[in-house]
Amino acid sequence: MLRISKKFKFDMAHKLEGHRGLCQNIHGHTYEMEVIVEGKIIDTEGSSARGMVMDYGDLKSVVKGFIDDYLDHAVLVSSQADDWKKFLKRNGYKCTIVPFRATAENMCVWCYKELNSMLQKAFEDNSFENNGAFLAGIRIWETPTSMAEYFPNPS
Ligand SMILES: [Zn+2]
Repeated sequence: MLRISKKFKFDMAHKLEGHRGLCQNIHGHTYEMEVIVEGKIIDTEGSSARGMVMDYGDLKSVVKGFIDDYLDHAVLVSSQADDWKKFLKRNGYKCTIVPFRATAENMCVWCYKELNSMLQKAFEDNSFENNGAFLAGIRIWETPTSMAEYFPNPS
């Protein structure tokens, strides 16, 4: 098994409906996300990515685009939070409506699904050089000491 990973940072606001602690209030975190890709080393003569699982720059282009569009300086809102959702939309705030409570655990599963389909598409149409690479998992730190991870196919 050979894995590479890349870390990203973003600032995001959320609140947890029905939470009994401080997280019921609107607040923000500086999140860290680690994206882990598994594969074999590319050994094609003349390949720009020779010796790599995939080019970190290719990985960055997909993940950074996703983070910029949906997460960074955005509010992540559960679709069940009707009043709040309407307020944010009406006032033009950057918000992403998701069908789950905005915990780091749920974010991991959702980010995995979104990034996996984007990466698979790029691998299938040969946009990114690879040798059987696939998204192995995602880790998200909500604080420097609190982390969730999702690896759907542990090896
Ligand atoms: Zn929080």
